Amino acid sequence: MALIVQKYGGTSVGNVERIKNVANRVAKTVGEGNQVVVVVSAMSGETDKLIGLANQISPTPSERELDMLLSSGERVTSALTAMAIDALGHKAKSFTGRQAGIVTDAVHTKAKIERINGDRIKKALDEGFVVVLAGFQGITPNEDVTTLGRGGSDLSAVAIASAIAADLCEIYTDVDGVYTTDPNIVPEARKLDKISYEEMLELASLGAKVLQTRSVEFAMKYKVPVVVRSSFNDNPGTLVVEEDRDMENVFVSGIAYDKNQAKVTIVNVPDKPGIAAKLFEAIAASNIVVDMIVQNVSSDGKFADISFTVPKTDTRKALEVSEAIAKELGAERVDKREDISKISVIGVGMRTHSGVASKMFQTLAANNINIAMISTSEIKVSCVIDLKYTELAVRVLHEAFDLAG
Ligand code: ASP
Ligand code: MG
Repeated sequence: MALIVQKYGGTSVGNVERIKNVANRVAKTVGEGNQVVVVVSAMSGETDKLIGLANQISPTPSERELDMLLSSGERVTSALTAMAIDALGHKAKSFTGRQAGIVTDAVHTKAKIERINGDRIKKALDEGFVVVLAGFQGITPNEDVTTLGRGGSDLSAVAIASAIAADLCEIYTDVDGVYTTDPNIVPEARKLDKISYEEMLELASLGAKVLQTRSVEFAMKYKVPVVVRSSFNDNPGTLVVEEDRDMENVFVSGIAYDKNQAKVTIVNVPDKPGIAAKLFEAIAASNIVVDMIVQNVSSDGKFADISFTVPKTDTRKALEVSEAIAKELGAERVDKREDISKISVIGVGMRTHSGVASKMFQTLAANNINIAMISTSEIKVSCVIDLKYTELAVRVLHEAFDLAG
């Protein structure tokens, strides 16, 4: 007997028929002698619909109220899924984040899980229930409802899997697993059988939508074995686990792109110690996650341009903060560009193979794609390019690194 967490995403619970399909899958897993915790997302489109309603009332609704509102989507599917499992003759009980003991910090709309008291869930499992947990939500120590950021049901699943020491955390979605790149852009993209946490983390944070970034961080930290697979067929999916030898022998595992980036540039800041510290301290204090940073100093060494990228949703906040700091520091002005994207080549094999960066630059050059920013890590090379060349860049790089199946 194994203890299995199964998370079903929005499309997998998108209507009543699909919820019944989920119930069948759960019943089958229980029938095979396993204990199951099911974590559900809201029905597809539901969270966006709720955000739309809030925005009809205010462009900047209270984030506390937004969390109250958004958490309701998952509550609906958890109860419906429990009913569907029940209708198949199995005992099932739904739980909100609060009932499941998921305690978070108070950063509304992107709260971090601080601890989980899994006692109530364990008790229900011991009593023979299938536990159905409403994903994406928790509660602050003051008992305010929080949500865990978009895609946060993945995090709920991984965190609960870790808290109850589950044998496996299955993430069910509408694709067969993790691909070498987006199959909508490159139809020959290949499904990976296995990928390391680190590579998955890069892919996720670079815009591969199959797993929420923070859920991968959590899985990596607590070594939760994760499988990404489809709820519409029985294909085996992609295993996300610790790095092994086979992975190192692969030069590049995937190409990711992120169209959700904006570039902010502070032009002509006096070049002296403490400038970057001041700017990024203020950015961090407003909870904005900065990705790439580039600083160019003018030839006379007196002024610098500092550019950085942020998620597009944070552009306005980042501009506000930068403009205030620019004034304080005597910089000339602040520019922004939203027509950019970031293309990345990822693989743990880069640690032991050289030449990946140069091949990437050559390939982009051969296709007349200009590079605006570059950053590298041990297992990744990223370039910021014009948004309109995103698909072309992904195709030519996938081809250049010979990733097709
Ligand atoms: N319903 C939430 C969202 O759409 C959480 C999730 O689906 O994981 O972001
Ligand atoms: Mg998702």
